[in-house]
Amino acid sequence: MISAPRGTRDILPAESWKWAYIVKTASETMKDFGFSEIHLPIFEHTELFSRGVGETTDIVEKEMYTFNDRGGRSITLRPEATAGVMRCALENNLCVQGASAKLWNWGPMFRHERPQKGRYRQFYQIDAEYLGVPGAMADVEVISLSLELFRRLGLKNLEAVINSVGCEKCRPLYRKKLVEYFSAHKDELCETCLDRLGRNPLRILDCKKESCSHVADGAPDIYDSLCDECREHFAEVRAGLERLGFSYRLSKRLVRGLDYYTKTAYEILSGDLGAQNAVAGGGRYDNLSSAIGGGKVPGVGFACGVDRVMIVMEEQGCSFGVAPEITAYAVALDDASRPAVQVLTYDLRKAGIPAECDASGRSFKAQMKSAGVCRFACIIGSEELSAGTVSVKDMKAGTQENIPVSSAAEYIKARL
Ligand code: ATP
Ligand code: MG
Repeated sequence: MISAPRGTRDILPAESWKWAYIVKTASETMKDFGFSEIHLPIFEHTELFSRGVGETTDIVEKEMYTFNDRGGRSITLRPEATAGVMRCALENNLCVQGASAKLWNWGPMFRHERPQKGRYRQFYQIDAEYLGVPGAMADVEVISLSLELFRRLGLKNLEAVINSVGCEKCRPLYRKKLVEYFSAHKDELCETCLDRLGRNPLRILDCKKESCSHVADGAPDIYDSLCDECREHFAEVRAGLERLGFSYRLSKRLVRGLDYYTKTAYEILSGDLGAQNAVAGGGRYDNLSSAIGGGKVPGVGFACGVDRVMIVMEEQGCSFGVAPEITAYAVALDDASRPAVQVLTYDLRKAGIPAECDASGRSFKAQMKSAGVCRFACIIGSEELSAGTVSVKDMKAGTQENIPVSSAAEYIKARL
């Protein structure tokens, strides 16, 4: 037997309708915020991610599914959506001459990580990106959009954490301060962080190991290094969130694992997820477009982990709306009635009534058993066949009526 690759899983019917509910809720929320859906390729040229996400990030260094295709080109299964959205906007000229674009998409992402609860190698993200607007109002739109999505899904016990990671003007100064500080604490840092010290010292702030975390707590504060523009932008984001009534926590240690972030970085954490506690993450990325070879297009966005949202919703007993079910089951009393049952089933379906019938020649008793879990059983035997009728048994009302087969759909609809 061949099994599914490690870190992947099948979403079976018992769960898939819940996924559809989450995506439908996202789609409605996106519409209310003015975001349009796009569909993007699942694989891209490897350079899009190595240049966009950044060579020294965990994603590019060790998590990507990269291979050469038959034409010898290096291809990568997308580990995240933002770089692809920006590529799409640049390639299709969606943001020329000051135009802005609000785009959302959802689908699988691929990262070669150690599988565990809430961490998979193929996982799903709902992603929204607001491109072309440099000002803080766009950040507030994006953050409030993600929080509104979670409000509609009924998630409780969430915490929004925000930070500013500065820009190309002020970050070098902060980076220098960090290198000085961490160099003085080298003996307390883990192997990975020692390596990060020379290449990407901001990432040390993010390290979950206890000793590194302890050192990072005492690290210089990024707020002291922000340039006026970044400082002002951050203040406006905060004021905007407060205006809309959102509470949040400031964290100078939130840097996010992707290089393209500038200014705002944020995460939404759930108190009910254990170690993998981020249900969404995002921020501003004003340099991504130039990193991938385009003109200057600022952007801000977020990605929400659907797998984790699903775990939290199950744990918190959130509603997924109504589970799909078969409303009417058409039953053949004898073999001669089977063709009429098939026609009736199709007629009900055409009328938008979820209907089912037996397709494998099972006995009347077996068919009635299947019908027993539906609201209506529509029985046709030799008498009904010759009279052109059907006996409709309403399981909920406890009634049974013989009606013309042509009015069955109408009859059922009137009782739903
Ligand atoms: P983490 O710190 O948990 O690794 P991340 O910072 O790598 O997350 P992002 O790249 O910001 O994650 O992706 C946004 C969201 O996608 C995360 O908040 C999380 O909900 C989800 N996510 C990321 N990686 C995985 C994964 N391997 N399996 C399931 N969900 C994931
Ligand atoms: Mg990660």
